[in-house]
Amino acid sequence: MHDTGCRVGTIALCPKCIKFKPSTKHHVYPRRFFNGEGPLLFLCRQCHIGIEKLIPQHTKLERRDYELIAIEFLRGEHAMCFVQQLDLQGL
Ligand SMILES: [Zn+2]
Repeated sequence: MHDTGCRVGTIALCPKCIKFKPSTKHHVYPRRFFNGEGPLLFLCRQCHIGIEKLIPQHTKLERRDYELIAIEFLRGEHAMCFVQQLDLQGL
């Protein structure tokens, strides 16, 4: 193992593009409104940028609306896995 000093984050399977890529942490409820509470979604950087474009910058939505944005973003591949995870968290 070589420590190059340029860690880019954990490699994870991105649930949107289905590729193993460095993972970024997306707060389903925007941190600017919810201070980091709520569920997380791990996406590659490219998909993270994609989902952020769906979220209004200045308008605060209901928690359920943010959950639906995340689910709709992923829909078509593995959306149901995330619906179940959200339900298990009692939201
Ligand atoms: Zn991705």
